Amino acid sequence: MGAFGQAKCPHASLLAPLAQVLKKKKKKLTSKNFTIFAPKSISTDMNITDNFTLEEMLSSATARAHGINNYDVPYEIVIALTKLCVCILQPIREHFKEPVIISSGYRCPNLNKIVGGVTNSQHIKGQAADIYLDGDTKREAEYFSWIRKNLDYDQLILEGNEKTSWIHVSYISPKKNRKKSWMQLQKTSGA
Ligand SMILES: [Zn+2]
Repeated sequence: MGAFGQAKCPHASLLAPLAQVLKKKKKKLTSKNFTIFAPKSISTDMNITDNFTLEEMLSSATARAHGINNYDVPYEIVIALTKLCVCILQPIREHFKEPVIISSGYRCPNLNKIVGGVTNSQHIKGQAADIYLDGDTKREAEYFSWIRKNLDYDQLILEGNEKTSWIHVSYISPKKNRKKSWMQLQKTSGA
């Protein structure tokens, strides 16, 4: 599909200062629309944006079931997850005005292997999240087309298997985002 979406995330200018703030370990950075919280040290209960916590981006039932520690997360991953929350997930939350359920955010390489993710999955880099809409295909289509038209994403995939479906969305940077979107509803492994 063609290149849709905004040329640039309106909050992208915050991201370079954000990396600096995170490095200097100052407490928080505010923008007109929301607050980005940067903790003194990484803790999983920290808020990344108003409506997203680091915990939500790291939590995995599969990791727990397999005794995998998905919380040992490098600093660069937290920065990538922050970009994803600021430019993709928080704008979605604010547009649809309802909780956004993340079924898979960051995956350590072991976890990614177990869930059948592709080896170069952006989940490993903290650049991707899967949004779960309870299998509601109408809402999935609404989310998919809104993201495609309004956000500066890297990849946007309406994915699914015989059991369930979800929206995979990723973000790298304004310069590197490829704006690729497609539907892949018969797949058994996730991107
Ligand atoms: Zn995914």
